[in-house]
Amino acid sequence: QVRVRFAPSPTGPLHIGGVRTALYNYLFARKMGGKMLLRIEDTDQNRFVPGAEDYILDALRWAGIEIDEGQGIGGPHAPYRQSERREIYQKEAQRLIDEGKAYYAFDTAEELDAMRQRLEAANAPAAQYNAITRMQMRNSLTLSADDVKARMDAGEPYVIRLKTPRKEEVRLNDLIRGWVNVHSSAIDDKVLLKSDGLPTYHLANIVDDHLMGITHVIRGEEWLPSAPLHVLLYRYLGWEDTMPQFAHLPLLLKPEGNGKLSKRDADLGGFPIFPLQWTDPNTGQVARGFREDGYLPEATINFLALLGWNPGTEQELFTMDELIASFDLSQVHKAGARFDIQKAQWFNHQYIKEQPDAVLAPTVQVQAEAAGYDCSLEKAEKIAALLKGRVNFAREIVDEATTIFNPPASYDEAVTAAKWNADAVKAVTAFRDALTQFDGDFVADAIKHTLSDAMTQAGIKQGKIMQAMRLALTGSGAGPDLMLTMEIIGKDETLRRLEQALT
Ligand code: GLU
Repeated sequence: QVRVRFAPSPTGPLHIGGVRTALYNYLFARKMGGKMLLRIEDTDQNRFVPGAEDYILDALRWAGIEIDEGQGIGGPHAPYRQSERREIYQKEAQRLIDEGKAYYAFDTAEELDAMRQRLEAANAPAAQYNAITRMQMRNSLTLSADDVKARMDAGEPYVIRLKTPRKEEVRLNDLIRGWVNVHSSAIDDKVLLKSDGLPTYHLANIVDDHLMGITHVIRGEEWLPSAPLHVLLYRYLGWEDTMPQFAHLPLLLKPEGNGKLSKRDADLGGFPIFPLQWTDPNTGQVARGFREDGYLPEATINFLALLGWNPGTEQELFTMDELIASFDLSQVHKAGARFDIQKAQWFNHQYIKEQPDAVLAPTVQVQAEAAGYDCSLEKAEKIAALLKGRVNFAREIVDEATTIFNPPASYDEAVTAAKWNADAVKAVTAFRDALTQFDGDFVADAIKHTLSDAMTQAGIKQGKIMQAMRLALTGSGAGPDLMLTMEIIGKDETLRRLEQALT
């Protein structure tokens, strides 16, 4: 059975790219009839940010990404927070030591710095603490067993490092990228267990993926450089047979395509890069969220799904179920995906126009009242029906409704010149007279009949005067359905506006 995990570190709000990673994991799990796990990777205590874990859970919930097992849900492999699993990692680190695949190192920060400087001066290759340099450092490979024990007993801080082989080819077959080959000389003797007894990301991640039965690791491309080390760890831990398959997702690029989208891009281009609004607990700074900006979760998901994947057809609009049905890891792109905010807005438009009017109405009412207009919920619902097809966001509906809330302050000059003629005056007069007599329900259908009857009686072709009629009522020559517009503004106001146009 397929088992995937989303494994964020609670170092701040989830970036929208993280939501995409979670989404691809989710789509793959559902498609394969597998399970989706949530694991919190919080072993870096310096970077821990309070509130971040709750934020992650809220964001996934908002996006409709359902977790089957893990933090906040529970499951057979609990706890799912790495800070609560330290003994598990310590045990595995110890096993590596016992088997000669890892060693203790006592080097101080100053000593490590000095080594780094020596190597830089000599233009040495990237891996620094390695099979060669380790022999000059203070670790259990160079110190006597007694010395090591004495230092430990004295409480001297130490770490556990991986004994990376000197000359070995490390290979992995990434489901998106194909074969990746790295020579072990390029891999550092990575710290596995830190001096605080907590594991590094690498150790904890591998141990947990193994114990939690993960079959596929689907994560961002920024982790690709770590993947060979992870393969090595699987080998050393004796878990190579059940090593998960890897799929590294393409980067999300800035809207201009110049480099990776980062947290610092938030707000710069007037677009959010977090799913939900986030208030930094230290600085009090507020970063915008898709949700608060008025994006619907369905639209956000649809947009994100297509950032780095498409099914190879023309289809752009997908429900979650349709995404699940069409998703295929092998169709995920290698190249980075440009974060296109216009496209995000376009998607939101597609979903806003399909929203039930009653769902949009409260937003319309709140916005209308904030703009100083009187607006009942019933009126708000009708306004939503009339205008939702013309906006990207629910909050924009009221901006489109100025001609509903206000009588024309002026009349479009070009339309006036072209259309405001004797026939127009005659038509508006006839319609006004007919409305004065009107005493039924003032709804679009009835208004339409009244208008067409009045025009027939006056001997006027309706098609010729409709623009003038609209001009009289709204001051402009174009706009949404005019009968519905009149229904919304009501009979009295309609009459007032016709009157105003005639004087
Ligand atoms: N904790 C890592 C992160 O924050 C997880 C990377 C992985 O999926 O292996 O992205």
